[in-house]
Amino acid sequence: MIYFSTNKSSIPVSLKKATLEGLAPDGGLYVPSEIPHFSPEEIKNLDGASFNNIAFAIAKKFVGDDIPLDQLSDMIDTCYNFDTPIVPLDDNTFVEELFCGPTLAFKDYGARFLARLTGIFAAKEKRLITVLVATSGDTGSAVAYGFQGIPNTRVVLLYPSGKVSPLQEQQLTTAGNNVHALEVQGNFDDCQRMVKEAFVDPSLNKSLTLTSANSINISRLIPQSFYYGWASLQLKERYDHNSPIFSVPSGNYGNLTAGVLAKRMGFPIGHFIAASNANDSVTRYLTDGRYDPHTTITTLSTAMDVGNPSNFGRLRYLYHNDHASMGRDITGISVSDKETRTTIRSVYDRFGYLMEPHTAVAFRALEDYRSKKEAAEGAGIVLSTAHPVKFLEAIEETLGKKIEIPSNLQELMEKKKSATLISSEYKELASFLNGLDQ
Ligand SMILES: *Cc1c(COP(=O)(O)O)cnc(C)c1O
Repeated sequence: MIYFSTNKSSIPVSLKKATLEGLAPDGGLYVPSEIPHFSPEEIKNLDGASFNNIAFAIAKKFVGDDIPLDQLSDMIDTCYNFDTPIVPLDDNTFVEELFCGPTLAFKDYGARFLARLTGIFAAKEKRLITVLVATSGDTGSAVAYGFQGIPNTRVVLLYPSGKVSPLQEQQLTTAGNNVHALEVQGNFDDCQRMVKEAFVDPSLNKSLTLTSANSINISRLIPQSFYYGWASLQLKERYDHNSPIFSVPSGNYGNLTAGVLAKRMGFPIGHFIAASNANDSVTRYLTDGRYDPHTTITTLSTAMDVGNPSNFGRLRYLYHNDHASMGRDITGISVSDKETRTTIRSVYDRFGYLMEPHTAVAFRALEDYRSKKEAAEGAGIVLSTAHPVKFLEAIEETLGKKIEIPSNLQELMEKKKSATLISSEYKELASFLNGLDQ
């Protein structure tokens, strides 16, 4: 399989190069030259398959000959050593719980796969890869725990001091060994500016191979299609539902793009809802075909506070820039903070189910969609992207009720924090990076 840039002006590359580079040299995003397809027989053969079997069947088609199949299969088993439950709320509404990985958010699916693939490719090239990330929370923790202990890789992550939650800070600063946390005296934008500067610093790039691990990397995107395939087949097998609608709480639109890949591959998926908060650039595009990104607005569903989503270019590419054709597969629905809180309450009252804000946005969007469309009778799957405990304050405030912290988290909270405090001047980052073993 070869990979093209969405800007079409750099040469096609292997998965290895696309993974280690992240962004194409022409500034575009890598996309597979063709989307692999499962025939109806192949889909039928996946009857009764486990999550990891489905993941392997999909990954195989994207990886091609780049790594041996037994190595790929082992890799998938170490990536997904946790469950992906599908919880019924009523006869045709389901929650796919994507928060059972080590950092309790769905970003584990992409980060763990990317980390191991990067390790394999880096070992092949006999290189040590330094992953540099600026984080405001979830991405950094998934990357830290994803790359933890992976040979030929190390992570340097920058987070804004005092601006992440205590739980997030524990996750960012306790992975240890090949993961270094830098606590920056500044805000998230400072962290991002410093990382960008490092990527274009010629002297630094002579001695280190730097790469980024954000969701523009195609190897973080591919594995996110696994849980769409899994849920669509599970619904058929266990509940006799065909072609469900997926409601996807969206920020950078990596998750939704992976869903579109799964549908194109031939998995039985009916429709998508792009559920957004007040950051509704894509929702507006879906309505009138004009892309007019606004500045980012802070909301209750913070991980979706993205004014100009980085994966939108890839989504557009997949629909040949045709908003009408995108609109046949995807309906955009934006949900306010007020509606999010009402939904957290009503879902708890009706089903006794605890939903954190991002999941609640997706649930509410599905309800809105159903109330407007007569054809929307089929089963709906709400993607739950984080464990309620990750957004404890928002839920406790809304429900007026204390939430119990799971025991494995208690352990995490007791681990010793290890971070290096630096100012927001680039030269401090450069000197830290130069001081790492070569
Ligand atoms: C990252 C994140 C999202 C948004 O996912 P995208 O792929 O960026 O659209 C939604 N919910 C949670 C909890 C997240 O961490």
